[in-house]
Amino acid sequence: MCDDRWVLTGPSDLHLHSSCSDGTEPPAEVMAAAHDAGVRTVALTDHDTTAGWAEAGDAARTLGLTLLPGAELSAKHAGRSVHVLAYLFDPDAAELVALMAGVRENRAGRAERLVANLARDLDVTWDDVVAQRTGDATVGRPHIADALIARGIVASREEAFATLLSPRGPYYVSHPAPTPIDVVRVVRAAGGVPIIAHPAGRGMLPVPVLEELLDAGLSGFELDHRENTPDGRATLARIVAERDLIATGSSDYHGTGKLNRPGENTTSDEMVARIIAQATGVPPVSG
Ligand code: AMP
Ligand code: FE
Ligand code: FE
Ligand code: ZN
Repeated sequence: MCDDRWVLTGPSDLHLHSSCSDGTEPPAEVMAAAHDAGVRTVALTDHDTTAGWAEAGDAARTLGLTLLPGAELSAKHAGRSVHVLAYLFDPDAAELVALMAGVRENRAGRAERLVANLARDLDVTWDDVVAQRTGDATVGRPHIADALIARGIVASREEAFATLLSPRGPYYVSHPAPTPIDVVRVVRAAGGVPIIAHPAGRGMLPVPVLEELLDAGLSGFELDHRENTPDGRATLARIVAERDLIATGSSDYHGTGKLNRPGENTTSDEMVARIIAQATGVPPVSG
C-alpha cells in the first residue's frame, strides 16, 4: 500500500454506540472514552442512524483519533435478528437513508406497543421512555429498560432484558426489518463495507445463509466480540481463512448501558486498512 494518509497508530475498536441510539453518552463523550482507554482508531456504529457522525468527527479531530463513520443496521432472517455493521458508506445514498428511516419508524411503533403491554400490569408510560431517550435517537428496548429503572421496577438493563423485555416474556413485541441480504446489497450500493456484528452469538445464521451473504457482497465477520461462542467463532474463523475475509474485533460499547469497555477487543491494522480500501462512500476522518 502506497497511500500513507491513514497511518494507524494504535488499537482499533470498530463498534461503539452513543446516545444517538442506545448508548448512554453523546458521540463526543464516546470518542473521549475510547481515547482514554488507549484506542486510536474508532467507528461510531449507532443502530440505524448516522445522526452522530458530525459530532463524533469533530471530537475525533480534536482528540487525534481516526474515525470510521458507520452504523449497525437491523435485519431479520427467518425471524432471527441479525445486526450488520456498515462502514464508510455514503450517508446520503437514497436507498440506505430510506432503509434506516423505515427501521427507525418500525422500532418506534414497536416500542410504543411494548410499553402499552407493560402498562397493563406496571406503572410505566411512553412519556417515561421519551424522558430516557435523547431527542429522536433510534429507540430500542434499552430506553424502555431505563424507564423501568427510573420507575424503580428493575435495577439494571440486564435485569430488564432477562425479565420484562425478554422475547420469551408476555410483553415482548418484535419489529419488522429488511433481510440481511437486502441490507448487504444496499450498503454495498452506498459504497460501504458490510460486516456481520456478533455473528456467533445466540441464533447464529446457518453456514449456507452466510455463504449467500458473502456472495451478495458481505465483507466479513466481527470475530472477536464478547457475545460470540467459542464453537461458532471457530466455525467462522475457518470460513474467514478459506475465503480470505475481513475479521474484526470490537467492544460494542454502550456507555454505562452495558459492561462492555472500549478496546476490550480490537481489530488489526491490516483489517482496518482492508475496510478502508474496500470503501467508496466516505473517507475516514483523521485527527
Ligand atoms: P432492540 O434493538 O430494541 O431489540 O434491543 C436490543 C439492544 O439492546 C441491543 O442493541 C443491545 O445493545 C441491547 N441489549 C441487549 N441485551 C442487553 C442486556 N442484557 N443489557 C443491556 N443491553 C442489552
Ligand atoms: Fe445496542
Ligand atoms: Fe448488535
Ligand atoms: Zn452494537
